[in-house]
Amino acid sequence: MGEFNVIIVGGGLAGPLLASGLLQSGVKVDVYEKLAGDAKRDGYQIRVAQPCLRAFRENLSADQCQRINAKLGHFDTNKETTPIWYDHKLNTLLHMGRINEQYHGSAPIDRVILRNIIIEQPVEKGIMHFGKSFSGYEIISDQGRERVRVSFEDGSSADCDLLIGADGSHSKINVNLGLNNIQPVPVINFICKARLSKEKLAALPAPARRAPMLCFSHRKTYFAVAYIPKRTETDPEIGKGEAAAISSNDDEEEAATFTFSFLHLKDDCPKDIKELDNASKWKFLEESVSDWDDAFRQVIRVMKSENLYVFEPRASKRPALDWRSKAQKSRNPSIAHPRVWLMGDAMHVMLPNRGMGGNQAMLDTTVIEPLITQLNESAKTRGAPSTSEIAAALRVYEQEMIPRAFYWVEASGGTSPVSGTLQPAYRIRDEL
Ligand SMILES: Cc1cc2nc3c(=O)[nH]c(=O)nc-3n(C[C@H](O)[C@H](O)[C@H](O)COP(=O)(O)OP(=O)(O)OC[C@H]3O[C@@H](n4cnc5c(N)ncnc54)[C@H](O)[C@@H]3O)c2cc1C
Repeated sequence: MGEFNVIIVGGGLAGPLLASGLLQSGVKVDVYEKLAGDAKRDGYQIRVAQPCLRAFRENLSADQCQRINAKLGHFDTNKETTPIWYDHKLNTLLHMGRINEQYHGSAPIDRVILRNIIIEQPVEKGIMHFGKSFSGYEIISDQGRERVRVSFEDGSSADCDLLIGADGSHSKINVNLGLNNIQPVPVINFICKARLSKEKLAALPAPARRAPMLCFSHRKTYFAVAYIPKRTETDPEIGKGEAAAISSNDDEEEAATFTFSFLHLKDDCPKDIKELDNASKWKFLEESVSDWDDAFRQVIRVMKSENLYVFEPRASKRPALDWRSKAQKSRNPSIAHPRVWLMGDAMHVMLPNRGMGGNQAMLDTTVIEPLITQLNESAKTRGAPSTSEIAAALRVYEQEMIPRAFYWVEASGGTSPVSGTLQPAYRIRDEL
């Protein structure tokens, strides 16, 4: 009988990070990724929250962590990152400040650079299999030992004791498992993340310098946040806060960044919106708020030289903590099987405006890796772990992950961001 082994499907951020941690713990693991090794990847910037550094430390070498740190922008420790909710005439509806969020502090990094570092160990060890697109799995008995047979579009297959679905927001494993909690959101998301020069910072309207601006109006969701180093040390009152931010030194200017996210219902956008050039996309956005307060348009005017990323987002719905026991009533043995786990966007994809999707995906590794390492250790003395041992480990993971990650899914707008669902998300947090 072969040794205990794990297959991870998906070589984005979460999959290779988990694989690196498992390799360091001596677990036999393989990663299957549908794209070619040299495929061009989306180069948007992501913000890495401070707790995520723990995931890097636990899974990567000291040298890799050092190189990630060197590429990270300045850590914004700003606690004034809860939005002020305005109507479209800039009347304050709700000051969301002082809501106790889990993570303060994040730093920007290019997603491609981050992933290139994360993937190094799996590539070096030859366990990264590119151009292998997952097509399905089945539960098999291999001489009495229960295993998962994973099949790929090219007709090949591989067996494992535990399959991890890290195959992102269009996860096939999620569907095969019968969870099916990911759906398209009928909106177009325009998102821009950029460095904020001193000139741009000064040109922003006062509300955008004071705190994140949030507005649900005219079937749209407008969100703009400036990450300005040192703002915490200043008085959050507008006058003093602004003055301190604008007089920041050159290093701080380097570090200031701006995130702008605007959601429009798909039906409200031109059909060819994604094909338009950058200037035309910004023009469409500016015109779409022609009767809003000028501050909303001023943000657009300041940012419009920057690249606008346009995409159709997907989002997930919170499953019950006992979703597997309910789903297992189906006659299909593959449904909700405990030997198949989901992580990252494959389980809890969210709208990107709060910058937490990748963070939560990478934090999943800190819970999963020790559980699998423990299963591997016990396999060395007692043989391959039974299905009930794997199910017990899975329960520990899902009980931790579902409340943590779905808090952020809902805080990011859930699956109906345009109708103003932020309040329920904060209520859920209160209940945790
Ligand atoms: C514009 C934008 C801005 C964002 N900003 C932030 C931010 O600031 N902070 C943050 O934390 N997060 C951010 N996110 C979210 C973040 O990028 C994702 O949450 C993160 O990439 C999820 O990692 P993952 O490994 O779960 O999935 P992914 O990185 O999507 O990886 C999934 C992998 O699975 C592969 N795959 C898919 N199907 C198959 C198959 N059938 N067989 C084999 N392989 C398959 C894919 O090719 C891909 O490589 C942003 C997202 C967007 C779109």
